[in-house]
Amino acid sequence: MDFQEIARKIDGLSSECTEFLVRICSIPALGPDNNGTGEMAKYQVVKDAVTALNPDLIEEIHAPDERVPDGVRPNLLAVFHGRDNARTLWILSHIDVVPPGEQRLWEHDPFKPEVRDGFISGRGVEDNGQAVVASIFAARAVKETVGFGMNVGLALVSDEETGSLYGLDYILHQRPDLFKPEDLILVPDAGNADGDVIEIAEKHLLHVKFTIKGLQGHASRPDKCRNTLRAAAHFVVELDELLHSKFNSKNTFFNPPESTFEPTRKEANVPNVNTIPGEDVLFFDCRILPDLDPRQVLDEMELVAESVQERFGVQIAVDEFLRSDSPNPTPADAPVVFALAQAVQEIYGVQPRPHGIGGQTVATFFRKRGLYAAVWEKILQMAHAPNERVSVENLIGNTKVFARMMV
Ligand SMILES: [Zn+2]
Repeated sequence: MDFQEIARKIDGLSSECTEFLVRICSIPALGPDNNGTGEMAKYQVVKDAVTALNPDLIEEIHAPDERVPDGVRPNLLAVFHGRDNARTLWILSHIDVVPPGEQRLWEHDPFKPEVRDGFISGRGVEDNGQAVVASIFAARAVKETVGFGMNVGLALVSDEETGSLYGLDYILHQRPDLFKPEDLILVPDAGNADGDVIEIAEKHLLHVKFTIKGLQGHASRPDKCRNTLRAAAHFVVELDELLHSKFNSKNTFFNPPESTFEPTRKEANVPNVNTIPGEDVLFFDCRILPDLDPRQVLDEMELVAESVQERFGVQIAVDEFLRSDSPNPTPADAPVVFALAQAVQEIYGVQPRPHGIGGQTVATFFRKRGLYAAVWEKILQMAHAPNERVSVENLIGNTKVFARMMV
């Protein structure tokens, strides 16, 4: 088989790919947690494109959600039979997007994508539109030329950006039989500019909420108050120093190689300057190396809280806000990693290396079920940013990588 034939076919589809990406990203697909009306309108366009390819099997697994007008969050699974039907290569991408953020930072309407000088900009073009389009057009190019080597499954899902409860998590609960341990699962939803990293492992995720309670009063009479902001400031500094010195192990497989502990959100306290605040709420985002136990981190937090409580006469509640312990990594020699690395090398001429990341991806849901999923794509790394954009070069190159794996 000469892959050049398929590569030429994909090159010929370049403007169609671009137009389709512009079309789908013109339809906002925001979940209700992001004050949106859901993914259905965009889903219909994506589904029509997949249906036009005549897959051997189409399954819609819609998750009920009363908060959206359609009452469901749509999910599509389409399978094309291959010559070898013992295994399926799954490519999972998501159709929902995040809100544009600050409108004034955008050079144009985020939901009116623009094509200029080989780039396409708009909300959702990278995250995760590029992968949606690349997977559909890869399937089309292969189907219209040499046919599929193994079964190929396209999974196009909702709700990735707000937890996947109505997306992949729902699918895996409803139909755990769809994905098999021997399948190759690719999640093109994170990557770098060179396309040379394959994510196979992740850190533990721990979000902790601290509620500090003191005594509010007039700023001229601190003797009658218990200032929670002062306590919070000392608490953050002490906690920051302690966590970084206590949990300082490194694992160069990850980038960054150490656990990270970041004070992030701080809720508003009093609106005026002459009141001493009597309550402060703040959060830490922790990404903990897999060989450490998040429980140990929480224990240390409690100890610092106790010491600050005593010195400042306040109460500090330490609460797990969100916690997701990392599952076993996908082995570096899993078939999906191998096939992906080979395809990437052939198309892009780089030798990708498996590594771990701090942020969790939707691949976690597969790994938690013992399914080997690899995360890869070649992108400009502008997800969630204003003026999010992709290059047509990557769009077409990634389409070729997926097609290379399909034949
Ligand atoms: Zn994404």
